Amino acid sequence: MEAQNQASAGRPGQVIIVGAGPSGLYLAFQLGLLDIACTIVDSLPEIGGQCYELYGDKPIFDIPGFESVRAFELVQRLWSQAQIANPRLCLNTLIGDVSGDEKVGFRLSFFPSAAASCDHASSLLNQERFAAVFVASGVGAFAPKRLRLEAAQALENSQLWYGVLPSDEHSLKQKRILISGGGRRAMALVKRLLQYPAAHAPASIDLIARSGLRTMQDEDAEPSSLILSEALRQGRLRIHQATIRGLCVDEQSGRLVGIDMEQRAPDKSGLVRLPADHLLICHGLSPKTDHLLNWELGMRAGHIPVDPARFETRRQAIFAIGDIASYPGKKKLIVSGFHEACLAAYASCDYVYPGKTIHLQYTTTSPRLLEKFAKPLAQAEGIKSGSSC
Ligand SMILES: Cc1cc2nc3c(=O)[nH]c(=O)nc-3n(C[C@H](O)[C@H](O)[C@H](O)COP(=O)(O)OP(=O)(O)OC[C@H]3O[C@@H](n4cnc5c(N)ncnc54)[C@H](O)[C@@H]3O)c2cc1C
Repeated sequence: MEAQNQASAGRPGQVIIVGAGPSGLYLAFQLGLLDIACTIVDSLPEIGGQCYELYGDKPIFDIPGFESVRAFELVQRLWSQAQIANPRLCLNTLIGDVSGDEKVGFRLSFFPSAAASCDHASSLLNQERFAAVFVASGVGAFAPKRLRLEAAQALENSQLWYGVLPSDEHSLKQKRILISGGGRRAMALVKRLLQYPAAHAPASIDLIARSGLRTMQDEDAEPSSLILSEALRQGRLRIHQATIRGLCVDEQSGRLVGIDMEQRAPDKSGLVRLPADHLLICHGLSPKTDHLLNWELGMRAGHIPVDPARFETRRQAIFAIGDIASYPGKKKLIVSGFHEACLAAYASCDYVYPGKTIHLQYTTTSPRLLEKFAKPLAQAEGIKSGSSC
């Protein structure tokens, strides 16, 4: 009985959402309407799932109420809407196994990234029991594509980093940094490094991109391209059209001292050695669903069967929504995830508020909900009319 109370007590993270894609973010909002506190966990350093990682700068034309909305913007709007729930966010945190049940609550094991730059919220996961778990893990946990070169594994998280900067950013001071990749993440790291204060700045930044650079189209494209062109002009940044072919490691210390790259520019070819103290690899991501295999959810072909009335899996109080969920007629669309989030949130009340009947309430007419929205609305109105507090 005591354990049951622990599971449903009103603590900061009553329930947990695995995945910060559009389904997980909208679910946080729906839980907020029901006064259910949630923790959202994602293995990536950013929210948004496929929308952010795979097509952030593309317009989406089938979101209700929008003739078109860029995927980045949709993610930002969903996050902003989810603030009604004041969700706790743990990024760079890969969820592994689950233990417990609907009576005693659930515990989740996790693997924080060694280079994690998230807050320390993930350490709380160890201590908490959750009344319900929502799997909103889409096509799977996105993991960086690894460099298949000798010595790469031994250097990982000391001098070789995948898609992130080391957590101790001061360690890059006066170091020769090499970034490999021509996509958005590589550009984000370059920009971040260029913005370091002079006292902590790296000695040099070299970007290796196989086929030139991807055109940036996000909101800050203009200022960022200015930063880049200025850095190129000043020689603080060098760009090479090339591919990494080998890692040069000092035999005695085992430390990375440089790389061999094959040049691919029209006017340059052949193998060249480039000195480096740190190597940041941004070669894209590939999704994996095998972290959920031990959850005993009856996964079939990477999908979790659910009851489409509640989006509950075959384990009580474990729900699945979004692309990972399967049921007759399922369509892998963002709107499907929104519908599933709403029904799963209501169904979870059986575990969060056992014995209570929860009635549907409209955001337009419910005094309780109107009070909830009053503060953010007043703040937004204040910002619009230019008033300050
Ligand atoms: C190129 C492309 C274009 C598309 N265009 C459209 C469109 O126009 N309209 C439309 O409706 N849909 C579109 N889709 C589909 C849409 O993007 C998906 O339906 C939607 O993203 C699913 O959302 P989700 O939240 O379920 O999962 P995802 O977006 O996949 O997010 C899941 C998140 O969970 C995280 N995660 C997974 N496992 C773990 C774990 N063990 N621990 C921690 N985190 C984990 C992942 O890192 C990821 O961030 C498109 C998809 C693609 C690829």
